[in-house]
Amino acid sequence: MSTEASVGADPEEPVVPADPVIETANEQLEDGVNRCPACGSTEIQLRVSTSMLICLFCRHEWAEEKVEPLVSADQALRDLTGTTVATGASDITADADMLTMKCSGCGAEVVVNTSESTSSRCHWCRHVLSVNEQLPNGAVPDAVLPFSITRDQAVERIKEFAGKRRMFALRRFTREFTPENVVGVYLPYMVVDSNASADVQGVGEVQTRRYTRGTGDNKKTVYDADVYRVDRHVDFTADDLTLESSSERANMSAFVNTNNVINTILPFDTKNAVQWNASYLVGYTSERRDTDVSELVPVLEQQLLSIARSEVRDSVSRYDRGVRWETENVVVHGTRWLSMYLPVWLYSYYHEAGERSMVHYIAVNGRTGETMGSVPVSHWRLSVAALTTGTVLESVAVAILAAS
Ligand SMILES: [Zn+2]
Ligand SMILES: [Zn+2]
Repeated sequence: MSTEASVGADPEEPVVPADPVIETANEQLEDGVNRCPACGSTEIQLRVSTSMLICLFCRHEWAEEKVEPLVSADQALRDLTGTTVATGASDITADADMLTMKCSGCGAEVVVNTSESTSSRCHWCRHVLSVNEQLPNGAVPDAVLPFSITRDQAVERIKEFAGKRRMFALRRFTREFTPENVVGVYLPYMVVDSNASADVQGVGEVQTRRYTRGTGDNKKTVYDADVYRVDRHVDFTADDLTLESSSERANMSAFVNTNNVINTILPFDTKNAVQWNASYLVGYTSERRDTDVSELVPVLEQQLLSIARSEVRDSVSRYDRGVRWETENVVVHGTRWLSMYLPVWLYSYYHEAGERSMVHYIAVNGRTGETMGSVPVSHWRLSVAALTTGTVLESVAVAILAAS
């Protein structure tokens, strides 16, 4: 006789598979001190011309590990399921911006305001202390893409950009133009890999005959066409889509301009991003991420849908009178999220014009040198140019106005 069987028959808790997490914290920097591997000095910064870290004491140069192999782990995007979030992209839960660090040089306690900086100098022994911990406030990302375009190169690009628009630019802008005031900024992005499918349905037309009816002023061209129901299913993957992860910037009216500007200097070579080391940020400003994965899912779905549309477009060329899409939907099978700092050189100009004052920006991609921006235009100069050289230039002027 045995009762064990019934005793042991308690229904087990259903096993819910936890979403996978990718650990990206830089373990070598756990003690909060970023030392030169050759001499141990903490005087380290980015050498832009090589995109490597350089020790200002012994001139040794090195780079942190690329983050891509760590993240993809040989998994094909086609096999991606669920939501994988790297540790630096996890939800923002704390407002804990002030971090107290113990200086390993002298033992003093040093406070770092992580919303403004990710490193600080010990005021007693002058050791540089760096925030390497991925605090739940979005200040430390999974990866950083270091600048490779130097300040001088950025200044050149900005001069060239403004120079081409000089003819229509506000005189004051031209007079006060000081591209040397360019600032290097690391902006927060989510870099997302996706495995998805999409279904679209619509109506396509193929022309069978084309002829004219009536005579004289009543002449009309008509056509006959066969009408088809068109259904398409696409399975696709998207590698390294970049989504802005600072909502603060999107909400500030003065910055609306920048938002658009930054998106026009994409893409970045995100595959070259390296593991976090606060020393990459020395001498640059950065903006903290304030958006979680869940808030960015709708944005991602919109981007995936537009990828699906363009995938489908090639397959419907036989409908020579076009296809009118009526329904579309995207199913996301798997995503992988990584937070990353991307490098941008920014030149700003505050244009004061009463109620319509605004900040104009010229932005330079810190990797490719791609440059875009807006320059305050003189409407008077635009009209004169349009009157003297005709309608072609006028349409150009309107386009510039619309873009500014
Ligand atoms: Zn050194
Ligand atoms: Zn100290």
